[in-house]
Amino acid sequence: PKPFDEMVAALEETAKDMRGVKPGGAVVHWFKTDLRTNDNRALAMAADKAANAGVPLICLYIISPEDWEAHLRAPVRVDLILRTLKVLQDDLAKLNIPLWIETVDKRKNVRSTVHTFMESWNANHLFANMEYEVDELRRETALVRECASKGKSMTVIHDTCVVPPGRLTSSSSGRPYAVYTPWFKTWKQHIHDNEDLVDLVDTPAKQADDLKAKVSKLFGCAIPESPKNKQLTKDEKTRFAKLWPAGEHEAVRRLQQFCDDRINGYSRNRDFPAQDATSSLSPYLACGAISARTMIQTAFDRTGAKALDRGTDGFKVWVSEVAWRDFYRHVLAGWPYVCMNKPFKAVYSNIEWSYNKEHFTAWCEGRTGYPIVDAAMRQLREQGWMHNRCRMIVASFLAKDLLIDWRMGEKFFMENLVDGDFSSNNGGWGFSASVGVDPQPYFRIFNPTRQSERFDPDGVYIRHYVPELAKVFEEGASAIHEPYAKEAAKARKAGYPEPLVPHKDAREKALAAYKKGLGK
Ligand code: FAD
Repeated sequence: PKPFDEMVAALEETAKDMRGVKPGGAVVHWFKTDLRTNDNRALAMAADKAANAGVPLICLYIISPEDWEAHLRAPVRVDLILRTLKVLQDDLAKLNIPLWIETVDKRKNVRSTVHTFMESWNANHLFANMEYEVDELRRETALVRECASKGKSMTVIHDTCVVPPGRLTSSSSGRPYAVYTPWFKTWKQHIHDNEDLVDLVDTPAKQADDLKAKVSKLFGCAIPESPKNKQLTKDEKTRFAKLWPAGEHEAVRRLQQFCDDRINGYSRNRDFPAQDATSSLSPYLACGAISARTMIQTAFDRTGAKALDRGTDGFKVWVSEVAWRDFYRHVLAGWPYVCMNKPFKAVYSNIEWSYNKEHFTAWCEGRTGYPIVDAAMRQLREQGWMHNRCRMIVASFLAKDLLIDWRMGEKFFMENLVDGDFSSNNGGWGFSASVGVDPQPYFRIFNPTRQSERFDPDGVYIRHYVPELAKVFEEGASAIHEPYAKEAAKARKAGYPEPLVPHKDAREKALAAYKKGLGK
C-alpha cells in the first residue's frame, strides 16, 4: 500500500481507541513544517484539547542533523528555519505556551524522542500536521500505531494544502488526476462546494497563568546554532536575514502588500524576472510561516473577488499558481515513487543522460555562456531564490541543451533554495525536463536566447546579475542576449565565457535522445 493510504488506514484503525484516552498531564503539538501560530490546524486542535482538559499545551520541535544534510535542506533554508523558530518561540511565549527544541543524533531516533518527551511530560495526546513525503508518512504512521499501543492518542491532520490529497478523483476513471487542467477545475469546484475548506482556524488563546506555571521550566529553550556542515559566512547570514526576514508577521506583511499593490498586475508581469511582480512567499510557505489557505483567503478579501473564477485576471492566475503547489502534493501522495528518483512514466527511464562534470559545474556556477541562464544561476547563489520563469529556463537548459540528468539539477536546487520544497521542486523539474506528471511535450525546447529577448527585453535582469556584461552592454543593447553571436570581441574582453554548446545543435541532439529513449 502507498504510504499515504497506510497513514489514512492507521488513523482510521486507531480512531476508536483514541476516543477514550484520558487527558494526562499535558497536550503536545509537534511542529514540523508549520512554523506559525495563525491558521495552524493541528496547533488549534491541540490548544482546544488542552483548554478543555485543563492541562497545559506544550510545543515540540525536533532537529535531526541528517534531515539537514545539504541535499534535503539548503544552508540558507536551515538559516531561515532557525530564525523562524526564534520568532515562533517568542510568539508562543506571549501566549504562555512553551516551545521545546530538541536535537537528536540520528533521524531514526525521532520517534523514540517523541515518546520520551510524552512520557516525561505525562502527556497522552499528541497532535501534528501531515507531511506527504514517503519517509515522513511512514514515520508518523508508525508513531500513530505506537501511541495507540501505549494507550495514548496521536492525531495527524491535513493542513498544508488548501484541498487535502485524496479528496479529488477523476469522475471518469475514479482515480487521482495526473493532468493539471481537469484537476484544477475540480479543485476550484471542491473549494466552492466545501466552504469550510478555506475557513481559517483561530490562533490559540492565551494559556492560563496557572497552566503556564506548571511548565515554567520549558520556557526559553535554546535554539541551536546551524549544524557544522551548514555554516554560512557572516556576510551571507546578514544578506539572507535582510532578504528573508523571518516569521509569520513578515509573511503576512508580504502577502498583504502583494495583494494591495501587485496581484492585479500579476498575469501581465509575473514572467518578467526584472520586475518585482510575484509574492516572494515561497520561502515562508516552505517552512510553514504562512498557510496556503491564508494566502487564498487574503487575496480573495483584498481584491474583492466574488469566486475563485470571478475576480481580476491577476487574482485568478495567482490562485492557479498556488494550486500548482497543492497539485504536486497530491501527485506525491498518489504516486510516491516520484520521490524515489524515478520519472513519472517508466518509459522516460530509457533516456541516455549525460554526466559531463565540466558542463554541470559551469551551469551551477552561472558560466554557460547563455546570459539569461547565468544571471538566473547567480541569482540563486546570491538570494537562495530564483524567479519562476528562470527556473524553467535553467531547468530546460540543463536537461535539453546539456542533456544532463535532470535529477542532478533537482538536487542542486534543493541544496541551494531557501524555498526548497520536495514536491514543487520535483514537479517543476519533471515538467521542464518532460519526464514528470503532466510534462510539457519533449519536443518543446526552450530557446534560451529567445526567452531572454522576450522576458528580459532590456537586459535589466542580466545586467544586474552578470556585472561583466553590464560593463560592456548598456541597458537595451540587444547583443546582451547573445554576446558571442553579435559582439564577440566585447564579450571576450569582458571575460564572459563562450556558449558551452550551440543551441541549434543541442536541440537536435536532445530531440534524437528523447526519441531514442521513448522508442520512437
Ligand atoms: P508566486 O508567483 O507569488 O506564486 C505564489 C505561490 O504559488 C508560490 O509561493 C508557490 O507556493 C506557488 N507556486 C507558484 N508557481 C508554482 C509552480 N510552478 N509550482 C508549484 N508551486 C508554485 N517552488 C517552491 O516553492 N519550491 C521549490 O523547490 C521549487 N522548485 C522549482 C523548480 C523548478 C524547476 C520550477 C520550474 C519551479 C519550482 N518551484 C518551486 C515553483 C516556483 O518557481 C516557485 O514556487 C515560485 O517561483 C516562488 O515565487 P513566489 O513565491 O514569488 O511565487
